[in-house]
Amino acid sequence: MTPTKDIRKLSKEEIVTAFVEMGEPKFRGTQVFEWLWQKSVRSFDEMTNLSKPLREKLKEQFILRAVTESIMQQSKDGTLKLGMKLFDDRMIEGVMIPDEGRNTACVSSQVGCSLSCSFCATGFLKRDRNLDFGEIYDQVVIINNRALETTGRPLTNIVYMGMGEPLLNYDNVMQSIKLITSPAGLNMSQKRITVSTSGICRGIERLADENMNFNLALSLHAATDEKRDQIMDINRSNPLDALVKSLNYFHDKTGNKVTFEYILFDHFNDSIEDADNLIALCHKVPAFVNLIEYNNVEGVTLRRAKSDRRDAFVAHLRNNGISAAIRRSRGKDIDAACGQLANKEEKN
Ligand code: SAH
Ligand code: SF4
Repeated sequence: MTPTKDIRKLSKEEIVTAFVEMGEPKFRGTQVFEWLWQKSVRSFDEMTNLSKPLREKLKEQFILRAVTESIMQQSKDGTLKLGMKLFDDRMIEGVMIPDEGRNTACVSSQVGCSLSCSFCATGFLKRDRNLDFGEIYDQVVIINNRALETTGRPLTNIVYMGMGEPLLNYDNVMQSIKLITSPAGLNMSQKRITVSTSGICRGIERLADENMNFNLALSLHAATDEKRDQIMDINRSNPLDALVKSLNYFHDKTGNKVTFEYILFDHFNDSIEDADNLIALCHKVPAFVNLIEYNNVEGVTLRRAKSDRRDAFVAHLRNNGISAAIRRSRGKDIDAACGQLANKEEKN
């Protein structure tokens, strides 16, 4: 009979118990747990300190559903785009962005996305399935290896800004963060992790209650319900007033300011009046503003804002005491922008 039990779904304690039941000493279970996560092997045969018969026994009982890398593209600016294959042949993408000594990985949380924001290429794909926490973790491991290879340095930051809505795959996202930051995993600092959400109040409050110390970014993109409703359906059930409450709850519990991500769209949300609406919102929630350059998407009428309007917008925010940065798009020549991981193979 072919095994169906995914060994990576088991906790360390569960693996140890399984080993004791097989008549093996406890420490073997601990070793296997280390192989799975800290050393991130892709097969039982790589667990070289186990005897061959034991590896065979494991293969009879368990499967190991690791992600494998399939394609890598490198942009002129150093940005890497990695295509990765899941055990069921589905593909996901991750990006590594080197910038001023930092190496940031952008990871996916779902195949496709549950939501369909009007400007987002991922939103055009139907949500296929959630990624499990191991699959999210694997992306970080794979991207980290490539960062080391191409820049000589490991990852410094991780952003959950690839495909999918992290807060609609809450448990796996949380578990992946715990593993990434645990000494049994990659031992990275929580402060170097940012979860980006389209704005799901309940999820934001749950994050606040985790008593952890990672960062939260809200994909705002419009500072009034009237405009946000037009581009993000999720705003109808999670309007700005409710989001403000949840974000303040997050700030109170964690002490961390949130980041408002705001894509500037030409003549949609880039006027001085729009900037005033954004300023008003920033007075309700302690926040930084990241102004994002839109990567135009085929079939979307919203277009990237012109640079003179962008510059006037950011100057107006700063003149009013709001800390704002412009995030230039990276890896454009290889379609590697975070949040724009459309699956070209699927569309063609
Ligand atoms: N679902 C989550 C995380 C993934 S999207 C969220 O919406 O926050 C990551 C970011 O990329 C979001 O702010 C999203 O609005 C933005 N984005 C989507 N499409 C983009 C594009 N074509 N150009 C620039 N940013 C884009
Ligand atoms: Fe999904 Fe985020 Fe894209 Fe909206 S912006 S469709 S939530 S990935």
